[in-house]
Amino acid sequence: CSIIGYYGKETAAPIIVKGLKRMEYRGYDSVGVATESENQIGLKKGTGKVQEVNSKVQLETLPGRVGIGHTRWATHGKVTDVNAHPHPSNSGKIAIVHNGIIENFEELKKELESDGYVFKSETDSEIISNLLQKHHDQTKNVKETILKTVSQLKGHYSFVAMFEDGQLAAARFHEPLIIGVGKDDYFLSSDVLGFIEFTDNAIYMENGTFVIFDKNKFQISDFNGEQTGYEITKVSKEFGDAY
Ligand code: GLU
Repeated sequence: CSIIGYYGKETAAPIIVKGLKRMEYRGYDSVGVATESENQIGLKKGTGKVQEVNSKVQLETLPGRVGIGHTRWATHGKVTDVNAHPHPSNSGKIAIVHNGIIENFEELKKELESDGYVFKSETDSEIISNLLQKHHDQTKNVKETILKTVSQLKGHYSFVAMFEDGQLAAARFHEPLIIGVGKDDYFLSSDVLGFIEFTDNAIYMENGTFVIFDKNKFQISDFNGEQTGYEITKVSKEFGDAY
């Protein structure tokens, strides 16, 4: 129901948990966070409210300066700890958070299963992580990986994908996705409330585009792979203070 990404110089997990709390008004059943530290992905999640899950599994203690977070409103699969996001790929080298619905997930799941991928959850979302993994194993390139993956997905989605080398990517297709531009860091969120206390500079991503953060820079491209321009908008501080 809400997604968050953080790419920067601060410890990611506490910033992500704060953002998720700010978006609680949207309603959800599960919560989770994954971060990257020293080329390894750590992940914690569970059913319940942000505060409950945080006191049970200490989401905030995950190390690293890159991370993703999610609050889930279940559409495919029951409300269980395993079905909560983030979803890791089979190798654990990629983790994703997803908002929306992947309509052709059953078909894609069958294909991936015949390639040897094993699915742990009942969600439509988990296919994104393994599809990314399959394409990344082949291309070793994040941009190619995202392009190949979005060309196969049907439905409506925004997702954030984190790679074990610390690259962060996010794509938008008929679900909202906003980039928050801080001084030394970047935020991704489905709602400006996810980062308003840290920055009021926002890029509202166009439909059918994706962004990749690497080496403290970012690049936005459309689903044909063409780099696109962007505009940084000032979000009114008053708007953020109202919550
Ligand atoms: N369809 C996904 C699921 O059921 C994502 C739902 C959401 O947007 O929270 O896990």
